[in-house]
Amino acid sequence: MSKKFDVVVIGGGPAGYVAAIRCAQLGLSTACVDKWLNKEGKAVFGGTCLNVGCIPSKALLDTSHKYEEAKDKMGLHGISVGDVSIDIATMLKRKDQIVKNLTMGVATLFKANGVTGLEGTAKVLAGKKVEFTAHGGSSEIIEAENIIIATGSVPVNIPPAPLTEGVIVDSTGALEFTEVPKRLGVIGAGVIGLELGSVWGRLGAEVVVLEAQDKFLHMLDQAVAKEAQKLFTKQGMDIRLGARVTATEVKDGQVTVTFQDAEGEKQEVFDKLIVAVGRRPYTEGLLAADAGVNMDERGFIHVDETCRTDAPGIWAVGDVVRGPMLAHKASEEGVMVAERIAGHKAQVNYDVIPSVIYTHPEIASVGKTEEQIKADGEPYNVGMFPFAANGRAMASNDTDGFVKIIAHAETDRILGASVIGPNAGDLCQQVVVAMEFGSSAEDIGMMVFAHPTVSEAVHEAALSVNNAAIHKA
Ligand code: FAD
Repeated sequence: MSKKFDVVVIGGGPAGYVAAIRCAQLGLSTACVDKWLNKEGKAVFGGTCLNVGCIPSKALLDTSHKYEEAKDKMGLHGISVGDVSIDIATMLKRKDQIVKNLTMGVATLFKANGVTGLEGTAKVLAGKKVEFTAHGGSSEIIEAENIIIATGSVPVNIPPAPLTEGVIVDSTGALEFTEVPKRLGVIGAGVIGLELGSVWGRLGAEVVVLEAQDKFLHMLDQAVAKEAQKLFTKQGMDIRLGARVTATEVKDGQVTVTFQDAEGEKQEVFDKLIVAVGRRPYTEGLLAADAGVNMDERGFIHVDETCRTDAPGIWAVGDVVRGPMLAHKASEEGVMVAERIAGHKAQVNYDVIPSVIYTHPEIASVGKTEEQIKADGEPYNVGMFPFAANGRAMASNDTDGFVKIIAHAETDRILGASVIGPNAGDLCQQVVVAMEFGSSAEDIGMMVFAHPTVSEAVHEAALSVNNAAIHKA
């Protein structure tokens, strides 16, 4: 007799494992299938985010930030630290331990909530059936009242720069360099390219970023993008815009990159090259031809706003569907679908999804940019406040950047916010909460903010929307 569950979740990343736990909490018998094998060949849950994404990259960002602070910033405080050095093997070991703790944590959560974890590959068949093939090779058919597809995404490769063991790598390879490259090339000035470029740049690599677009961080508010470009350049990152890579050649452990920019064809030689040009939805071998699940023209699984696919009883969430490829968006979709299966009326507010780049300074945004609001033709007011005028930022020697809040000129309702500066992700989250409650800029202005905190810059930016900032010259 075949196994039967109320819900089978395919994929155990932040979309899938969160959906599975929520389903089980709501009383649904739930299995979660994942085929991930870690570096030691062990089956683990947690997907891209825990294994090779959000978490390991932040571990390396933290180590490299501390190294840079110790090396360059301690003298200012009168602290002498002598010669500062970095042991890359220890840095990688710490990162691996954090990943291990978190992936084991998912297994523990599955146990605690009664989710059946299945280690292997799943394929969706017609009639809400799933073919499960265990890592050992045995296969069985599982029946499900509902299937949630959460198979995520993988890095995009580009023909001029095929991955070459140890020299041309994707984001996963860039988390594993065993020594600091002398010259590091990064193709793509997106979130992942900038974060990984920052890690190795802080540790001493000479970093050149080649970006095909003419505009830096084109998806961000352009005031923030300009500030970021200025600060990253000051930090030593060599950012080349309008630079389209046309060929690479690996020889003697180095790579020569040929690219075209406004001035013509150029070449650069690097010790390592990171290809960080984006990610694509992953659906290889996932769907039987008659499964009834359709894709859109970009290869994402087609879903409605509640993540229903075109096949009844089959849902899809996370990176494999439209929308920003972010772990928190993936998880919230997972929760929404679990609750909908259980008969609730859950929704995701796609207008209020924050996005963070974990460089230093950090960059965070939510809602619309000034450029988008202008294009929509909505009347608006802007409030900005620089960290250079914030006491806590000064006390911490972290004064680069600003908070920018935009509100509707007639209703004062907040339409968007961008922060570049200390703890930008956490500061922006305050505006996320406000926006979720339909707050006006004046509402934030009337709240009490603790002093001295960097949060006061959010307060002052909100006041500034209505020309009421106190500490603005
Ligand atoms: P994934 O996490 O990709 O999980 C999909 C899972 O499905 C995988 O475990 C895979 O093994 C499994 N799977 C696929 N097909 C099958 C099958 N047929 N059978 C069984 N299992 C299958 N996002 C943030 O929000 N913040 C960050 O700071 C951040 N940093 C990042 C840094 C890097 C370097 C990278 C690469 C990504 C980062 N992201 C970040 C993006 C984030 O990792 C993704 O948005 C998130 O992992 C998407 O979750 P998901 O569950 O949809 O997919």
